[in-house]
Amino acid sequence: NAFEGQPDHICHYTQEMESRLEKEVELLSEIQEALKNNEFTFFAQPQCNIATHQIVGAEALVRWVKPDGTMVSPGAFIPVLEKNGMIDRLDRYVWDKVCAWIRSWIDRGFQPVPISINVSRVDIFSMDVPAYIFSLLEKYQLSEHYVKVEITESAYTESDERITSTVNILRGKGFKVMMDDFGCGYSSLNMLKNIPVDVLKLDMRFLDISETEEEKGMNILESVVNMARLLRLPIIVEGVETEKQEQFVQSLGCRYIQGFYFYKPLPVKQFEELLSDERQLDFHDLFYKQVEP
Ligand code: C2E
Ligand code: MG
Ligand code: MG
Ligand code: MG
Repeated sequence: NAFEGQPDHICHYTQEMESRLEKEVELLSEIQEALKNNEFTFFAQPQCNIATHQIVGAEALVRWVKPDGTMVSPGAFIPVLEKNGMIDRLDRYVWDKVCAWIRSWIDRGFQPVPISINVSRVDIFSMDVPAYIFSLLEKYQLSEHYVKVEITESAYTESDERITSTVNILRGKGFKVMMDDFGCGYSSLNMLKNIPVDVLKLDMRFLDISETEEEKGMNILESVVNMARLLRLPIIVEGVETEKQEQFVQSLGCRYIQGFYFYKPLPVKQFEELLSDERQLDFHDLFYKQVEP
């Protein structure tokens, strides 16, 4: 221990830490205000069948639109909310908005696609996630087929019975549970033994293949896809940005992608325009009822 015998050095409380903390406190109170003022909304990013380019679902991604019009991405506030025990409040708000939108879409006479909501690892421990989601379906009179649940992979590494039981309860009620960001955590392979999920969302870092290591990168991606196939788990490949990437994942036999190459996350109005054209939708795959690895 380099600081042994130097008690005055034990606490390294620097100016920098202090200002970072101040900024965080400021951000937290701003977020509380923003929640009251309804400044949070969601964008929807379509999930597509690679072969037909048709939409089979979409993911709801939270956005903070400030009164002056600036938009803040979740990366800037989700970690802070998770750290401070406030993420469940935001998530309940977002999930409610999503369900309200699905209800209004049905009421306007349209067939909805299933929408994924994001569940934070922290939510699982700080609230009864299944009970809350069921209550939303009640409130908006929705079938469980319209809502899918994405749980980020890092959640699964946290041992634990709480996560297993949450997934089991949701699946028992007919929800599809997707493991988000698959492949970037630690015990991803091992935990697949214990936690039953319906879909793997492949982390987009797998597509980040440098030219010098191209063969290696492609082989790794191929191995993950083959493994999922052996486990009979469908994959959605996230972060597909180029035609080359699309062709490659298609050549590996992947059926679903979510990425800028097809669609960026869209404001709800634009998403509705897309959905109102039935040719854009794949009714065979809708609800992932017939999803195959
Ligand atoms: P995620 O759940 O893995 O969502 C996918 C992220 O990848 C989104 O970022 C999306 O915009 C981005 N993305 C999709 N396709 C592409 C692509 O082709 N290229 C690139 N570069 N990016 C792409 P976003 O919206 O910034 O969200 C970041 C993360 O924040 C999400 O990752 C999720 O973990 C979290 N998040 C978003 N909305 C919510 C929410 O309502 N609740 C919670 N708890 N977390 C959320
Ligand atoms: Mg997600
Ligand atoms: Mg993801
Ligand atoms: Mg992510």
